[in-house]
Amino acid sequence: MRVYNFAAGPATLPLEVLQEAQAQLLDWQASGMSVMEVSHRSKAFVAVAQAAEADLRELLAIPDNYKVLFLQGGATGMFAGIPLNLASAESSADYINTGQWSKKAIGEAKRFCKVNVLADMASSNYCTVPAASEIRPTAGAAYLHYTPNETIGGVEFDYVPQSGDTPLVADFSSTILSRPVDVARFGLIYAGAQKNIGPAGICIVIVRDDLVGKARPGTPLVWDFKAMADDGSMLNTPPTFGWYMAGLVFKWLKRQGGLEVIAARNRAKATLLYGAIDGSGYYANPVAKHCRSWMNVPFTIPDPALEKTFVAEAVAAGLKNLEGHRSVGGMRASIYNAMPIEGVQALVDFMKDFAQRHG
Ligand SMILES: *Cc1c(COP(=O)(O)O)cnc(C)c1O
Repeated sequence: MRVYNFAAGPATLPLEVLQEAQAQLLDWQASGMSVMEVSHRSKAFVAVAQAAEADLRELLAIPDNYKVLFLQGGATGMFAGIPLNLASAESSADYINTGQWSKKAIGEAKRFCKVNVLADMASSNYCTVPAASEIRPTAGAAYLHYTPNETIGGVEFDYVPQSGDTPLVADFSSTILSRPVDVARFGLIYAGAQKNIGPAGICIVIVRDDLVGKARPGTPLVWDFKAMADDGSMLNTPPTFGWYMAGLVFKWLKRQGGLEVIAARNRAKATLLYGAIDGSGYYANPVAKHCRSWMNVPFTIPDPALEKTFVAEAVAAGLKNLEGHRSVGGMRASIYNAMPIEGVQALVDFMKDFAQRHG
C-alpha cells in the first residue's frame, strides 16, 4: 500500500508517473526491452532526452540563450563545478549563507577560489533571510551564489537578490519547478533531481551562454559546461533511467497545467500546514513568516522526548519520514510538488489528534 512520504530527498514521486514507468518497464516503446537497457545514443533514447529538455524549457520558459545540461555528481558536485567553471583560483566569488546547504557550498568553493560571504544568517540561527538591501555584490566577484530554499532549515527567499552585473548563481535543488521563476535574472540555476524532479542521479544545470566555455584548466570534462553542452550532456553515459523519469515528471507537470497551477497548489498546501502549526498552541516553526519554505516545513513539539512517539505513531497512520534532519532534530515535513493536498490534510489531522492526546 502507498503511504504519504514526507522525505526530504530522495522524495515522493507522482503516483501517475510511477505507474507509467511500471507499465513501460519490461517492454518500453514495443522494443522488448526496458529503457534502462538501451543505448543512450540510440534514436529512441535521444528522443526521450530531447523531449525532457524541451518540456523543461517550456515549463520554466527558459530563454534561448541558456543551455540546459543533465549532469552527474549531484548538487554537491556543482559546489565544485561552479567555481571551476566560473572563477579562477585568484578571483573571488560572493556567497550568501542562509543555512546548511549554503554552508556546504561555501566550504567547497573555498577550495577553488576566494569567497566573500556577503550575509551570514548563522547569528539568527538560520531562521530568516537577509534584507534585500544588505546584499551588496563585491566589485569584480566572479558570481554571486545563494540557496533559494534551505531544505534543512525550511527557509526560502521571498525575493531574487539583485546582483548587478555579477552573474547570479542559485542552488534550486529543493524548490525548482515549485513555482514560476524568471530565469533571465540568473546566470546559472542548478538542482539535484531527487527532490522535485525525479529519482537521484541527475543534476540539472541551466546556464547562460556567456558563462559556458570559461572552465579553468584541470576541470574534469564531465563538469566542464562547454564540453557537456557540445555533446548534449552525453560526453559519457548519463543516468538514462533518471533522465527518462525526469521527462515523465515534466510531462506530468504540463498535464497539471504548468507552474502557475502547481504554485497555487503548493501555496495552499503550505498555508494549510503552517496554519495548523501556528494555530495549535503545541507545535512551533521557528522561521520568520515571510520566508517560510513552501517545500520543507520543520516543526517542533514542547517535549522533545515525545518526538520518537510522534514519528512512530505517524508511521502507523501511513505518514512516513517525518523525523527532522539529523543535524537539527525535531520534525520536518517535505511537501514537494508530488505530495497531494490530501497527504498534507492527513498530516494535519494526525497532528491535531496527537496534540490532543499528548498536549
Ligand atoms: C539535497 C540538496 C543538496 C545536495 O544534493 P546532492 O544531490 O546530494 O549532492 C544541495 N543543496 C540543496 C539545497 C539540497 O536540498
